[in-house]
Amino acid sequence: MPKEVSPGVLALRKVVDDVYADAREAKKQGKLVGWSSSKFPCELAEAFDLNVMYPENQAAGIAAQRDGEIMCQAAEDLGFDNDICGYARISLAYAAGKRASRKIDLETGEFVIDPNSGKPLKDENGNVVIDEATGKPKKDPKTMKPYIVIDDIHEIEALPEGREKELRLNAIQPYKQMRIPQPDFVLCCNNICNCMTKWYENIARMCNIPLIMIDVPYNNTVEVNDDYVAYIRAQFDNAIHDLEKLTGKKFDQQKFDDACKHANRTAQAWLRVCDYLQYKPAPYSGFDLFNHMADVVTARGKVQAAEAFELLEKDLEKAIKEGTTTTPFPEQYRVMFEGIPCWPKLPNLFKPLKANGVNVTAVVYAPAFGFVYNSYDEMVKAYCKAPNSVCIEQGVDWREGICRENKVDGVLVHYNRSCKPWSGYMAEMQRRFTKDLGIPCAGFDGDQADPRNFNEAQYETRVQGLVEAMQANRK
Ligand code: SF4
Repeated sequence: MPKEVSPGVLALRKVVDDVYADAREAKKQGKLVGWSSSKFPCELAEAFDLNVMYPENQAAGIAAQRDGEIMCQAAEDLGFDNDICGYARISLAYAAGKRASRKIDLETGEFVIDPNSGKPLKDENGNVVIDEATGKPKKDPKTMKPYIVIDDIHEIEALPEGREKELRLNAIQPYKQMRIPQPDFVLCCNNICNCMTKWYENIARMCNIPLIMIDVPYNNTVEVNDDYVAYIRAQFDNAIHDLEKLTGKKFDQQKFDDACKHANRTAQAWLRVCDYLQYKPAPYSGFDLFNHMADVVTARGKVQAAEAFELLEKDLEKAIKEGTTTTPFPEQYRVMFEGIPCWPKLPNLFKPLKANGVNVTAVVYAPAFGFVYNSYDEMVKAYCKAPNSVCIEQGVDWREGICRENKVDGVLVHYNRSCKPWSGYMAEMQRRFTKDLGIPCAGFDGDQADPRNFNEAQYETRVQGLVEAMQANRK
């Protein structure tokens, strides 16, 4: 029987689908479509009714659909280094016109099936059917997929109207993240990291489009000082001026105020949703939170996102009352998952956790999008508080607070090859967690988007080690 999807989850899925569909429609109608970094103040673009896409969310989706490697390779073939963040490589390849496509035979119009794809064929008793000729399991033809190759949208668009153009357009992978419109402008805020700056400069240069940049300096102190606020406020004003020039419209104060109201309502509902992980056992897991991040990234300034998260809160309240959970195993241990997940390897991440009864009941990545503020200056300060732009004291404090409130027994740290600013200080953080909280930590190597950097055997061993340490700690 198909798993029942709750009303909140359905509403959240619709919000993101609508953001993507609206941007495609806007492009068709000749309206501007922008690309924005995830922690650029979306309230500014909302004040101009602009359609905006979020390359980080897009790249996560492409990686989760297993096209991260081919897109990263396409970027490397364009000359971008393999050491650059995987999200950036996927996005740069896409901005250059590269698309993951199903291989097609242009004569027959049929997709070319990869014989290595697909699941084993099973007989009516559920036994795997063996091919007598090869002695290997036969593949279930229904699950076999075409080869995935890289095509070029600029090349396709330059073709005359006709069969080849139609076939090649249709062959581009059909999921929404592989079909976002090319950008007419880019909005970049480096509160996340400085890779972002170079990434967006490159998109602007490749596509010959304007870049609106907000520079947020690294915070060496816990408080954001007044000089920083003045410096960033002036850039917000400048961004508004640039958006006026770009759109030919005057800044609409009412629309801006509304967007701020919606963004705060979304952030507050999102943080309350995150807090449901504090229940023991938890009604859901950090993996569910990861799945809902698309909404806070792409739609936090929209009332529909706020309403959908409020609906999700009701679902969780009901789950608490009824004692249900989305976690398909009894919760024996609770851990914090540190960092961005390996999107192409989510099932592999989940498997050993499930086998050992380990529920992820705390994550750092998700609540980092809860920007709450009451004034313009507070808004500026809120956008200074991204995980990679705060000092280590603040970073430790945040995480230890989450670990205590969410009652974790250990911490699983993703040393993410893509995200060097995040991974760089994790060794010291691990040391501090164990010293301050008395809980074990284990780290594994991986990557948020490029599956070549993840080793399943190493991950399983590290999870096993963490479980043994949590067991010993409990005794
Ligand atoms: S913060 Fe990390 S994951 Fe995000 S863009 Fe920067 S390097 Fe990539």
